Amino acid sequence: MSVSASTLPPRQPSPGWLQRNLNTLVDPDVFDYWAGLINPAWSWSRPLATIVERHVEALDSVTLVLKPNRNVGGFLPGQHVNVSCSVDGRRTTRSYSLTGVPSRDKRLSITVKRVAGGKLSTHLVDTARVGDVLELGPAFGDMVLPQQPEGRWLFLAAGSGITPLMSLTRALAERDMPVELTLLYWVKARAELCFLQELRALAARQPRFRLQVIVTHEASTLQGDAQGLISADQLEALVPQLDQQQVFACGPGGFVEAARQLTQGRVRRFEAEGFTPAAPMGLPADAPATTVRVHLQRSGRDVEVSTGASLLEALEAQGLNPPSGCRMGICNTCSCQRLSGTTHDLKTGEAESETDRAVRLCISRACTDLTLDL
Ligand SMILES: Cc1cc2nc3c(=O)[nH]c(=O)nc-3n(C[C@H](O)[C@H](O)[C@H](O)COP(=O)(O)OP(=O)(O)OC[C@H]3O[C@@H](n4cnc5c(N)ncnc54)[C@H](O)[C@@H]3O)c2cc1C
Repeated sequence: MSVSASTLPPRQPSPGWLQRNLNTLVDPDVFDYWAGLINPAWSWSRPLATIVERHVEALDSVTLVLKPNRNVGGFLPGQHVNVSCSVDGRRTTRSYSLTGVPSRDKRLSITVKRVAGGKLSTHLVDTARVGDVLELGPAFGDMVLPQQPEGRWLFLAAGSGITPLMSLTRALAERDMPVELTLLYWVKARAELCFLQELRALAARQPRFRLQVIVTHEASTLQGDAQGLISADQLEALVPQLDQQQVFACGPGGFVEAARQLTQGRVRRFEAEGFTPAAPMGLPADAPATTVRVHLQRSGRDVEVSTGASLLEALEAQGLNPPSGCRMGICNTCSCQRLSGTTHDLKTGEAESETDRAVRLCISRACTDLTLDL
């Protein structure tokens, strides 16, 4: 049985000779300070990566190729990492999907689309340059291929949701396309299409791969493009044998939710990743926002926060910068213990008050005074 590098479980970094033998003698912060003067990507234990290439992928989108240091772990096609760097003097973290496949040179790539008014995407698209260093979290995400994919697969990508599906398409292409793959790719305007040449070339040489571009907000000029938002009729018209398809969908939360509902009970399997929440996470209508006190046990600080925002946003509004990642309850980076008090889960709508339970700051709001293990 042949197993491609792109389906092996991700390699996690193990300490090197230096770390194993000098760990008790070296202060990582001191090492990082002096090593960083020589090369900003050298670090005792922090997973850092240097931008080694940058190219415009499409309107408002750039691809950054990253050379990781030895502390960066592996990944599976379809997974994402949290990317952090300083923006306006403040550490900022967001999630980005890896668009390549695991390779011998260990280089990684992300493709970032600028979101209007967005903090990190604007920085990465407009300001980040070759030589800049980013910090990367461990890879996460379950939208990955089985070891031996078979049958028919349908990838539904909207906007920047193409990124993990591109990685999966490349992984299948690398294995000579062992499945029948259809990629439906929705964009508002043709100028926003990423990876178009590569996808077209793959479709031309690989009869088991079919690409369908769908334009939603401009009159399509190219023969072969479809038009319009995702709908039952559109899927029926564009996807033969829908009932046999294994579906991966990715894009804004609303798109992913529509795809889920339209395919429910009609396909063999459905997995999805939403880049934004499907519905705005807000206060229940009957709960006007008030102010409560949050005691941060480890740092010994007390802050007043609004009950009308997620705990992550409320703490950030107080000038704090707790670790965070996807900001929608997927990656768990912001998870911390709630030592006392009641929080409200903005996704499930449930109030939670058991002590010593993990709470995800990005999808919880405070209901009462709280003590957090932060
Ligand atoms: C698992 C995962 C993987 C992701 N992979 C990618 C990727 O490969 N490429 C990529 O470009 N993005 C990706 N994203 C989205 C990315 O994490 C950020 O949300 C996005 O770049 C905006 O961050 P920002 O700091 O610029 O905006 P912020 O400052 O966080 O937000 C500014 C405003 O824009 C809204 N907003 C945030 N994200 C989006 C969005 N995607 N579309 C529309 N409005 C938005 C916010 O609600 C807010 O109102 C991914 C998200 C997740 C959860």
